[in-house]
Amino acid sequence: MKWHFLGGASQVTGSKHLLEIGNTQILFDCGLFQGRRKEANQINRTLGCNPDHISAMVLSHAHIDHCGNIPTLARLGYRGPIHTTSATADLLPIMLRDSARIHEADAAYLNQKTNRRHLPPIEPLYTVQDAENAIGLIQPHLYQTPVTLPGGITMTHVDAGHILGAALALLEIPRPPAPPLRVGLAFDLGRYNLPLLQDPVQLTQLDILICESTYGDRYHQNALNEGDDLRLAVNRALDRNGKVLIPVFALGRAQEIIYLIAQLRHQGEIPDVPVYLDSPMAQAISRVFESSPTYFDSDYHRLRQRMGAIMEAPWLIYTETVEESKAITSSREPSIVLAASGMCEHGRILHHLKHGIENERNLILLVGYQAANTLGRRLQTGEPIVRIFGDEFPVRAEVESLRSFSAHADRAELLQYVRGATPRQVYLVHGEQSQRESFARLLHDELNLDAHLPTNGDVVQFA
Ligand SMILES: [Zn+2]
Repeated sequence: MKWHFLGGASQVTGSKHLLEIGNTQILFDCGLFQGRRKEANQINRTLGCNPDHISAMVLSHAHIDHCGNIPTLARLGYRGPIHTTSATADLLPIMLRDSARIHEADAAYLNQKTNRRHLPPIEPLYTVQDAENAIGLIQPHLYQTPVTLPGGITMTHVDAGHILGAALALLEIPRPPAPPLRVGLAFDLGRYNLPLLQDPVQLTQLDILICESTYGDRYHQNALNEGDDLRLAVNRALDRNGKVLIPVFALGRAQEIIYLIAQLRHQGEIPDVPVYLDSPMAQAISRVFESSPTYFDSDYHRLRQRMGAIMEAPWLIYTETVEESKAITSSREPSIVLAASGMCEHGRILHHLKHGIENERNLILLVGYQAANTLGRRLQTGEPIVRIFGDEFPVRAEVESLRSFSAHADRAELLQYVRGATPRQVYLVHGEQSQRESFARLLHDELNLDAHLPTNGDVVQFA
């Protein structure tokens, strides 16, 4: 019984694991590695396993660093089932088709350049057709419903409390005459008290836990503060007749903000200004949210009973065309604008920033992680002049980062989860080395557990 750490062991993208029992191989996650173009391209084109030998795949959730390389698996011939939750099954086609279009466009752009140099054409990592082939393999299941996998393994998904449809997995692996080995997979662990979502379900009595550690060294502000933080910031800008520009990730953060705005409007705590969702992809995802009410917590159901539809509310304006988007940028009316991308690297948010960044009445509200070298990070660190579409703009709008927002467990929440799982062995993955080491020290001090810190390519025996 071997576990292969194929990706996302000591970094936060490219999650990929393989369980091998005799001739049976089961793949868990097949995420896209994200980083510098050349390195990412090389890593994403080699799966580290043979698709012909894989009999089933299990997917934790629809974030691209967990699912984004599934079309490569299909491109290389995989035709087995992809087991996931029904909400992830609804989100996955949106995510994979979008990713495939980006890879096709990237390759076309590079080929335009290389044609001039008479080099062989670059193939996209995968195509829309590869994505469609992968989508055809999805098998949706409900939480808490055991699924029988090859090798007699029972797999049960439970709510991860991370994003819509995200799952932790319990594997029960037969090893007669001993009782089955209980292995818990927490590739992305969510938080307690997040808006919309249920809390993570505690897996218990585990033999082995493979656990993420993204924020193994950090404490977040309480997720319960999110609504208050948003209310204060939004009112400050609207009181001075400004616009609130919010860069959002299309999956998760956009819907979380819409939900909080709905709550604040319902309670009369922010004015009834127009709210725009200016991202076709976020709109498609919001429709999936609206049609998946069973996944959300009781607060959501109470609000929905009073307000009706939330993600497709009458006050929430979906902008379909670029012309409609431009009309918002030219309007001087106070409003709230949600647009992708979340780190201001591309997408319609750039047009809103270009037209709004020099107005001191406006507020640019950062509600997500801003990676180094992105426009979002430059705004966050207070650079006085930034570049948008090649031109320089002085930053006169107010910029604020709301630190209470995160979909990942922090150090205290991770510890709480591991404590409740009572594993004999812990493998920490999905975290930078400093985060993993710091959390491993905490596990040693608090629970007397010596965690393993595998690297990509490591293979361990489970017993
Ligand atoms: Zn995730």
